[in-house]
Amino acid sequence: MLLIHCPYCFEERPEIEFRQSGEAHLARPEGSAEIDDRTIAEMLYFRSNGRGVIFERWRHVHGCGRFFNAARHAVTDAFLGTYAAGLAKPEVSAEGLLVFAEVPSTAAGGEPIPGKPRLGKSRSLMSGDAVQSEAGQ
Ligand SMILES: [Zn+2]
Repeated sequence: MLLIHCPYCFEERPEIEFRQSGEAHLARPEGSAEIDDRTIAEMLYFRSNGRGVIFERWRHVHGCGRFFNAARHAVTDAFLGTYAAGLAKPEVSAEGLLVFAEVPSTAAGGEPIPGKPRLGKSRSLMSGDAVQSEAGQ
């Protein structure tokens, strides 16, 4: 079973609670009324679909219902991390960690901000795998 960390619920949940919602960090070009049809079609329908690390939108449909982004390896299906929608696309370090240019760590009162990125915790579990406790982390 694949476990996915929701950055708003602050916990890992089974993949059946989530829905993949396409590629993340897509932006409609400015002045789209003057852009030719081919460029608009490429923006709407053409996706990178590459091997390696991809950035996707996910929705916790059977949980909080919120959208978030995830970095996932398209070949191994391993999640590198999840983070709130609206954060800028992170870089991927040589060690496979997500590096954010700017991430607020706490709110003014010192409480965690919903959607704070969590890196390297989501993992894929096959039936029969031992589940490791995260106590003390
Ligand atoms: Zn959630």
